[in-house]
Amino acid sequence: MYTWSLVKKDDRSFVNPFLSSDQQHSWNQTDEEFLKHLKSVVKKLMAQWEKHVKAEIDYTGSTNWSDYSVYTGKSGYALLYFEAGKMLNSPEYIEQAFFMAEKCTMHLHKPNAKDLTFLTGVSGPLALAAACAHSLKQPEKEHHFLHRLQTLYRSFEVLTNSSDDMPDELLYGRAGCLFSLLYMKQHCHEKVNDDLIASVAKAIIGSGRRLANEMQLRGFITPPLMFEWHKQKYLGPAHGFAGILYLLLQITDYLEPGVVEDDIRLCLDFLLETRFPSGNFPSSLDSERDRLVQWCHGAPGFIHCFIAAAKVYNSDLYLSAAKQCADVTWERGILTKGVGLCHGISGNALAILHLYKHTKDPVYLYRAYKFSEIVMDDRPHEFRTPDRPLSLFEGTAGVILFLMNLLDPEKFACSFPGYQLNALDKK
Ligand SMILES: [Zn+2]
Repeated sequence: MYTWSLVKKDDRSFVNPFLSSDQQHSWNQTDEEFLKHLKSVVKKLMAQWEKHVKAEIDYTGSTNWSDYSVYTGKSGYALLYFEAGKMLNSPEYIEQAFFMAEKCTMHLHKPNAKDLTFLTGVSGPLALAAACAHSLKQPEKEHHFLHRLQTLYRSFEVLTNSSDDMPDELLYGRAGCLFSLLYMKQHCHEKVNDDLIASVAKAIIGSGRRLANEMQLRGFITPPLMFEWHKQKYLGPAHGFAGILYLLLQITDYLEPGVVEDDIRLCLDFLLETRFPSGNFPSSLDSERDRLVQWCHGAPGFIHCFIAAAKVYNSDLYLSAAKQCADVTWERGILTKGVGLCHGISGNALAILHLYKHTKDPVYLYRAYKFSEIVMDDRPHEFRTPDRPLSLFEGTAGVILFLMNLLDPEKFACSFPGYQLNALDKK
């Protein structure tokens, strides 16, 4: 069936077999054969995945819920069910999502400050349960989860003051908490406290300014905000700048005067300067090796951030930065790490798809389709097997989420889960 094959470029990636093809500008967007194939693969993968998930979930009560995270655990399964339910108009899937998310909320550990985020912490299950309850029109349960999460957040003073006892990044820090609040705002509308959102954002800005000042006193030239995680100044969305700035750009109305025009804009311009000659981004400020091209580190995760910046500042400079990131992702994004979202081909494709949604340039849709061909190919490839093969961020759940969005990218959100937000209503 396929006319291409994968040849390793190095230990990280394969040569993109479609680069030399001139089809990018002349392909048929409504290729019925392809769409039929896509549909049947989605159906098959979903059925296989559900079979394994149901084997893991013992309805009599002995299921192990200890990994309740969205990233690798059962809330990630719930998130796929929730998204599938919305895309396919299936109340059964949404009920399944709610069942799993609610179960997760019954098994949450007592959190410390680094266990509060959407992707890895306790707020993922709570926010998701609130969103499912809203969708299923169960207002009492919705209120319960909204209240529980916001009460929990208010009990952690470090979340809303800028002490360095809590990181600011997406996976374990304040940005990941901000995501949970905004996710609930997106799904449950007016029932999330705006002051809480504003205080978390303010703490992130305060923390970023403090580290920048400290570094300037030590003789470094820095932008107005600096962030670190485990003493490294990471740049990609999972642990660094891109994730933090992307979320702040979603809530510009909540930020104090000057933050958008000065602090954030100068940080974005600073980030542009860190690019390698190839156009790729380093994983951290100290990194000099141009290696990683995956959502968590490198160009793909910056696509969302620069699209958001292009919108907020109405700037062609940031839009062309997003396009350059998509070119790097297209050229180098077929990864030996495999097909997952966080550091795999589906995540790279979903990032490119976001640029298609924003620009409507069919070249990006073509690229997402071509990446899907690789993801769907059942010939043996030298992909690494993920540790959590069913999970959302490393495994099949993420792959299904990407492919399902591709069934109708005009209609579906195509959002990168736990990171990307659809436009929020203005405050
Ligand atoms: Zn990753």
